[in-house]
Amino acid sequence: MFGKILIANRGEIACRVIRTARKLGVRTVAVYSEADARALHVEMADEAVHVGPSPVGDSYLRGDRIIAAALATGAEAIHPGYGFLSENPDFVDQVTAAGLIFIGPSAASIRAMGLKDAAKRLMEKAGVPVVPGYHGEAQEIVLLATKAREIGYPVLIKARAGGGGKGMRRVDHPDDFSEALSGARREAKAAFGDDRVLVEKYVDKPRHIEVQVFGDNFGNVVHLFERDCSAQRRHQKVIEEAPAPDMTLALRKAMTEAAVKAAKAISYSGAGTIEFIVDASEALKADRFWFMEMNTRLQVEHPVTEMVTGVD
Ligand code: ADP
Repeated sequence: MFGKILIANRGEIACRVIRTARKLGVRTVAVYSEADARALHVEMADEAVHVGPSPVGDSYLRGDRIIAAALATGAEAIHPGYGFLSENPDFVDQVTAAGLIFIGPSAASIRAMGLKDAAKRLMEKAGVPVVPGYHGEAQEIVLLATKAREIGYPVLIKARAGGGGKGMRRVDHPDDFSEALSGARREAKAAFGDDRVLVEKYVDKPRHIEVQVFGDNFGNVVHLFERDCSAQRRHQKVIEEAPAPDMTLALRKAMTEAAVKAAKAISYSGAGTIEFIVDASEALKADRFWFMEMNTRLQVEHPVTEMVTGVD
């Protein structure tokens, strides 16, 4: 067990990590920007280090200052929480190079799941069902339009670097494909600096069900059952429920096994979430779910799982 850890985050998640660390007898170091000098996480931690002015780019995203704070206070490990530096593989490399431990997955695991197209190719190889569609490298418009026809309309164009529902377009008819593609690319370029896309079968009456997993550093992975995030607005979750309404034992078994397989395929360590889309047009069936992506970090909705399993 660590003697002291630094939490590279603020707000609710920092407070939760501090509370659990205290229960385990681990001392904590908070970091804060100017705006958060009097924030609760600063007050709760055993020590706190000022890492910069209020804009997050000058404080919470300054990996160099955060690592310096950990070294100066004698922390052995850094917990990233979610957001900020939590899915930044370069930061993980820097933490490791400084002789510290990153509490979370390896840089290689994060990179493996960082782009939706590469992640889907990897999962396909690992035997995890993926959403039918095109997730190759070639991006010529004629090729993509042909793939869309083969997949069958309606299709969903997605930015491979996407997140937050950006760069996503549903297309119902071939005539609208090229305009939708331009729109998705424009949005993706602006948001992620990467305009490459994948094309997926649009799943009608979809349910978004995800599985929480935990891996250790010895190749073992467990799952902590599912969360349902089908109640959405603009493709973003609004309500999380667990267990998933109408879940069947057969689907739960198939989905949790696929999630564990996915995590093992990338030697996953720490908390993560595998997101699946389910075709719920005719009830929930064990052969109608597909991998969408993996979040290689703790999620904001993690407490839902803690509440149903009683596991901190
Ligand atoms: P992001 O990473 O931008 O949040 P996701 O790939 O996680 O994008 O998808 C967000 C949401 O969009 C999903 O929860 C689901 O509701 C919807 N969605 C994604 N893929 C499909 C699909 N192939 N068919 C229908 N809906 C989809």
